[in-house]
Amino acid sequence: MNYSFWEKKFIESYADVTIIGSGIVGISTAISILEARPGTTVKVLERGALPYGASTKNAGFSCFGSVSELLDDAHSMGAEACAEIVGMRWQGLSKLKERAGLAALEYADCGGTELFRKTDEVLEQTCMDNLDYCNQLIERATGLKDTYTAAENTELPGFSAHKIFNRHEGTINPVSMMNFLINMARQLGVKIHNGVSISVVDYQNRLLHAEGGLQIPYRLLVVCTNGFAARLLPSLDVLPARNQVLITRPVVSNRLSSGYHLDKGYVYFRNYEGRILLGGGRNLFYEEETTDQFGNTEGIKAYLTEMLETIHPGASGEIEHWWSGILGVGPSKYPITQWVNDNVLAGVRMGGMGVAIGSHLGEKLAAEVIAKLG
Ligand SMILES: Cc1cc2nc3c(=O)[nH]c(=O)nc-3n(C[C@H](O)[C@H](O)[C@H](O)COP(=O)(O)OP(=O)(O)OC[C@H]3O[C@@H](n4cnc5c(N)ncnc54)[C@H](O)[C@@H]3O)c2cc1C
Repeated sequence: MNYSFWEKKFIESYADVTIIGSGIVGISTAISILEARPGTTVKVLERGALPYGASTKNAGFSCFGSVSELLDDAHSMGAEACAEIVGMRWQGLSKLKERAGLAALEYADCGGTELFRKTDEVLEQTCMDNLDYCNQLIERATGLKDTYTAAENTELPGFSAHKIFNRHEGTINPVSMMNFLINMARQLGVKIHNGVSISVVDYQNRLLHAEGGLQIPYRLLVVCTNGFAARLLPSLDVLPARNQVLITRPVVSNRLSSGYHLDKGYVYFRNYEGRILLGGGRNLFYEEETTDQFGNTEGIKAYLTEMLETIHPGASGEIEHWWSGILGVGPSKYPITQWVNDNVLAGVRMGGMGVAIGSHLGEKLAAEVIAKLG
């Protein structure tokens, strides 16, 4: 990078609040700060031409948890913590829909469906037995009634004959979502600097060192780098997790009618304009996928290709594109909102559902920042 004097001055200029990361969390935080405290100067530093993590690479599910996932979370975190997180996801989705509007998100009100492999009889039975429990948990967390209903799976014969339908879920286009949010932030006066990769946070001098010799002073810093957080803030309990995705060309007789979840949310697929989008499977390759390096591997590609044949026989010959994105995960699905010191706040670890939780977390981070600014 060879910055001119003018460029350096522009990027290094003072801001009340500096945010690293222009994904849904960073941009939502910037928007919420300016909505609540107009006139605040806010700067977002982003290494990519677009957000380069998960926010424009995800599957675009507007979801808050399948039954098998909720049961798993309630088991590992306790029912109350699980309900609290579901509540945050629902509040985030509601905020996102209200802020952007359904058209700007390309929202499809198609519901969500949990399917089961024919061999997963025990899991299926456990989920069916716990529908009331999960409906009550969702009602406590969100006020939504009768979220999950059992139904016949008539569309995808490769899976068990029964499914669970969630009428409150849907799908979006993640790039449309981020385009809307980025434009909104700019209109509110947020300065977004793309191509600025921060390598070191110098706490003592309140200075960010970036590639190309930039030295960017900050007053209050918010780190919204999710799966990459450990690179700048190694003390945080967040690990990267790669998720690989494929999309086919439009396929004839595509029977996918909603957003589908399998395996406690580890596998997901949906229809996009007649194409099949399918991703996940990192639970089967845990160590290999605990990485913040983008890429596609033979193991996951083989697994997803086989899964694609179960979903739609013949579709593996129609794969058009593969990609990956990086999540931030950890021992808990509870997102981290933590002051690392007096001037540095972290908002990371979306637990694989940042589309849902991101706008809510942005409000929470903004409130912290505003309280500090006075
Ligand atoms: C394949 C896939 C499918 C998913 N599907 C869904 C879904 O259907 N529904 C759902 O709710 N969630 C889904 N998620 C999760 C969701 O996308 C993420 O939780 C969410 O986007 C996280 O947003 P974020 O802003 O915290 O992080 P990110 O979007 O990752 O943003 C972090 C930003 O920080 C920037 N950055 C990192 N380090 C630096 C640095 N040193 N200097 C400057 N910039 C830096 C990155 O370039 C990036 O743009 C999925 C994720 C993936 C990967």
